[in-house]
Amino acid sequence: MKTLTVSVVTPDGPVLEDTYEMVSCKAENGELGILPGHIPLVAPLAISAVRLKRDSSEDKLAINGGFLEVRPDKVTILAQSAEKPSDIDIARAEAAKERAEKRLNSNDDHIDRLRAELALRRAVNRLDVAQNS
Ligand code: ATP
Repeated sequence: MKTLTVSVVTPDGPVLEDTYEMVSCKAENGELGILPGHIPLVAPLAISAVRLKRDSSEDKLAINGGFLEVRPDKVTILAQSAEKPSDIDIARAEAAKERAEKRLNSNDDHIDRLRAELALRRAVNRLDVAQNS
């Protein structure tokens, strides 16, 4: 079975480097499924889950935006943050979600709605990855 080396790096350092048979992720213009031998590509990633498949198992990461670089034998993900399900603090993500929802529901003109919207997306993505793995 052909494989790809997958490397995930954040400003805090490397999160994962391993070989997989398929990478599924969400670029800003749609879902991407990458198999070994894929044409070279660079794409911005959405706040989303990255799914890494090998044999019949699947590893997941919660990715906070960033970039995907594809070469035929290697996928590199550079992200502002990337967490494995076991590293996600659910209580922290729930608190972040509540904070963001409160801000979005308030009528205060001083609220930076885009910032709150992005914080909400990060929190929901973390909860989704932590709870569906
Ligand atoms: P918070 O408001 O809770 O800080 P955030 O979405 O603003 O959440 P980020 O700026 O995306 O946080 O991340 C800052 C750092 O904290 C990153 O290293 C990220 O991996 C880590 N982090 C954030 N939320 C969690 C979480 N719920 N569980 C584990 N690590 C987290």
